[in-house]
Amino acid sequence: MTNLRIPGPTPCPPEVLAAMGRQMINHRGGEFQKTVLSVTDKLKKLFLTQNDVFLLTSSGTGGLEAAIVNSFSPGDKVLAVSIGVFGDRLANIAKTFGADVTTLKFEWGKAANTSAIKTALDKDPSIKAVMVTHNETSTGVTNDLKAISETIKPYDKLFVVDAISSIGSIALPVDEWGVDVMITGAQKSWMVPPGIAMVALSEKAWKANAAAKIPRFYWDFAKSKKYLANGGQTPWTPAVSVILALDVSLNMMLNEGLDNIIARHIKLGKMTREGIKSFGLKLFADEAYASNTVTAVLGSDGLDPKTLNKIMREEYDIVLSGGQMDLDGKIFRIGHLGWVNEKDIEAVLGALKYALPKAGFTGGK
Ligand SMILES: *Cc1c(COP(=O)(O)O)cnc(C)c1O
Repeated sequence: MTNLRIPGPTPCPPEVLAAMGRQMINHRGGEFQKTVLSVTDKLKKLFLTQNDVFLLTSSGTGGLEAAIVNSFSPGDKVLAVSIGVFGDRLANIAKTFGADVTTLKFEWGKAANTSAIKTALDKDPSIKAVMVTHNETSTGVTNDLKAISETIKPYDKLFVVDAISSIGSIALPVDEWGVDVMITGAQKSWMVPPGIAMVALSEKAWKANAAAKIPRFYWDFAKSKKYLANGGQTPWTPAVSVILALDVSLNMMLNEGLDNIIARHIKLGKMTREGIKSFGLKLFADEAYASNTVTAVLGSDGLDPKTLNKIMREEYDIVLSGGQMDLDGKIFRIGHLGWVNEKDIEAVLGALKYALPKAGFTGGK
């Protein structure tokens, strides 16, 4: 079987795939409504939130767009904290819908600096919201979201967090850290195929929603709330199969336990980084903030990351990711989130030992 080691979509357990293959059921019928309520309830346990949770039929980016159109009016001042491709994307979505976005950019590979966030908020009191990417998948960096949350708390802003590649693998207690709008996606930590985005919304998010004037129809959280309250429905026909699969994967996750899942990702992240460094390779991310769901590795000492990924795929049946945007051809990335264990990482490191010299790497030894 192919060892799919990209930061989403991630491999799915057989029980989950079996659920994906089930015959269709009525999305307005009793069985499905019960499933939606059960999935929502289980997600709240794993998000550590009492807030409202909704299932949207889309990839993660649809969830980000939904968050923007439901929270802002054209002209609203928003501070977008960006440490990579996905931080830039969130800022761009907000700009697309007319928000007045100030982007606070940090060097790729580094985490966001809280004193710079504080300075930006002090400089412009009219800022309504702060948007942050928890885990920047493009650079393999996890922001210190707890510290950011503490920094912005006294300012009482709407806190919007892209947690697409973190929550469910990396600790993010939504309520404790005061996240008002949290977005994640099925194909990352959740061990199911793509097709569902999940959002969690606080009281403050609902206040922003009531005031938000950006036009919206398909992505309307008020409609989601109304339909969920009506026995567990979604406004539109959802990705029924993905929700059935999610019901199964969430049971598996609750059985393993959130703390154990987080501990497993810490261990696998460390194992990956130690292995990479033992070859003499360099991590792209500042190691103090290195992600436990994705490791980005610099193409150094003659290594061509694109050639490496080709050799890994063709000769070892291991699929790795390349770099995005400015990092294209400069790094390769190893995904280690969701349905992953030590054997999967051992296989990657074992193959790299032989593939690296074939891809031009002359370092280490
Ligand atoms: C994967 C990812 C996205 C985009 O999700 P899609 O499902 O591809 O739309 C956004 N943000 C982060 C941090 C991601 O890892």
